[in-house]
Amino acid sequence: MRHCEVVEAVRGEAVVYWMRMEDLRIHDNRALSLASAYANAEGVPLLALFVLSPQDYIAHDRSARRIDFTLRNLAHIKESLAKLQIPMVVISHCHRGTLPERIMTVLDGWNAKQLFANIEYEVDELRRDVRVCELACQRGTVKCTFVHDKCIIVPGTVKTKEDRGYSVYSPFLRAWLPHLTDQPDPLACAPDLQSNSPAIRQHGVYGHLFDTDVPEHVEGFELAKDDAEIMRTCWPAGEVAAEEMLRRWLHTKARSSQFGAADPLSDGATEPKNQLKDSRVGKYNDARDRVDADTTSRLSPYLAAGVVSARQCIRATMNLSVNKNTRVDASRETGIGRWVQELAWRDFYTHVLALFPRVSMGRPFIEKFANVSWETNEDDLQAWKDGRTGVPIVDAGMRQVNKMGWMHNRVRMITAMYLVKDLMIDWRLGEKYFMETLIDGDLASNNGGWQWSASTGVDPVPYFRIFNPYTQSKKADPTGDYIRYFVPELSKVFGEDVHNPPAKLAQKLGYPLPLVQHQEARQRAIRRYKNPGDV
Ligand code: FAD
Repeated sequence: MRHCEVVEAVRGEAVVYWMRMEDLRIHDNRALSLASAYANAEGVPLLALFVLSPQDYIAHDRSARRIDFTLRNLAHIKESLAKLQIPMVVISHCHRGTLPERIMTVLDGWNAKQLFANIEYEVDELRRDVRVCELACQRGTVKCTFVHDKCIIVPGTVKTKEDRGYSVYSPFLRAWLPHLTDQPDPLACAPDLQSNSPAIRQHGVYGHLFDTDVPEHVEGFELAKDDAEIMRTCWPAGEVAAEEMLRRWLHTKARSSQFGAADPLSDGATEPKNQLKDSRVGKYNDARDRVDADTTSRLSPYLAAGVVSARQCIRATMNLSVNKNTRVDASRETGIGRWVQELAWRDFYTHVLALFPRVSMGRPFIEKFANVSWETNEDDLQAWKDGRTGVPIVDAGMRQVNKMGWMHNRVRMITAMYLVKDLMIDWRLGEKYFMETLIDGDLASNNGGWQWSASTGVDPVPYFRIFNPYTQSKKADPTGDYIRYFVPELSKVFGEDVHNPPAKLAQKLGYPLPLVQHQEARQRAIRRYKNPGDV
């Protein structure tokens, strides 16, 4: 970090960076970096603002875990910014309808002339920001600058020949990959922040902003003590923790403990001899669908909250190479190539959200499936949520998400497909439950994953290709370790039985019998999807 030239006295005008839930970091943050450069060039102070908006969290089914993670990260950010003499103020605002007016009042109180923020692509958030711009124009006091930061490639940059957004991943990826080497470099790191003058601490208006606290809770989103402890252990907050997780993913061998509330930063990951071949990322292409081992990065909470930027992940990955002068070819089916392609899914679903916003408004992308008839059995829905369906891999997945706030991608697909196709329950109820439970809940990726599983979305699994959860279980968890860990009733069951325990054994162990017979349920789903509207 470079200190700015000494500013003798702090001018009474400010540049404000408005931090959002998806950019909880100070490094490689475009809006913050631009705000900093502007403030420095004008010789005026930079202030940071975060608005807690519980009504928005309710509207988006945000989990208490995600809100707690936000607050924990904000505490780190406030501390880091204070070292640069930049105050960060966290305010609470309950009425989402009047939030733009509140922002204007705060900016007026700070005599702010410039507002910078990264764009959020959800419809409500876009509307809110448009209103902020309108108010700013009407008053003529503040200039607003909203910039793209979340995706590697800005939504709308890659389009089909018909000038539409891509709705199929493979051609999207083919169009997306060449952009990684564009000039200006889309992976370029945003410049470092520059300090405010220390004189800001004596300023009549700005000085006391350093004294404000980040709240420990948001009303209505408090975590139970046990849950809070598990979240803190599994998902430590702060950029340093995120960077260390990324480093370990790229440079160390698999961890010994894969499940539960293991501290990801203290369980003895070891440096491999052959960096590329033996590292965790190096094995990703072959191992990523295994849920009984440590096969994926677990960076999703940090990426969803922007504690680490996707750019930084790809930059660090692309720089891994046997030969220092050669950049990694991300189109290849190697561990590294495949991981970059997985990050492209994140871009893909965010582009879909930005270009086809109706997907986030409860609509299926494929409209004809809006009329599929759903079952409304509350008990079945609750059994799925609790991990008591009688299908071990589904129950292990649901118990994992209930405990850790995170699930492996393969188990997300299996549990989602089971709810929609076996129980025939509306995918939107599953989407909502995931958002309420996940620590990495992200509207675009969650909606994309659910609409994929429900065969209603962009590039979905065809409706007649229904996962057999027992076959999936044997492939994803061949050792059965994953099921035994999360379903204690089955902790002493080995071999094939752990995937589908015989009725007598299940009853003896106090494990539920399956809610439905898979083959019958499969036929029902195919029938209903083939003729939407039929029961
Ligand atoms: P890795 O395998 O290490 O992948 C690295 C990163 O790439 C991830 O952290 C994530 O940012 C991105 N990524 C990987 N796969 C996908 C994907 N299929 N779609 C979008 N991005 C992807 N991901 C979320 O971040 N938030 C969600 O709310 C979410 N909900 C999902 C719901 C369903 C029904 C399904 C099937 C998938 C969902 N995903 C979601 C995508 C994916 O399951 C998670 O990103 C992944 O499991 C996170 O683990 P990881 O960080 O170890 O991933």
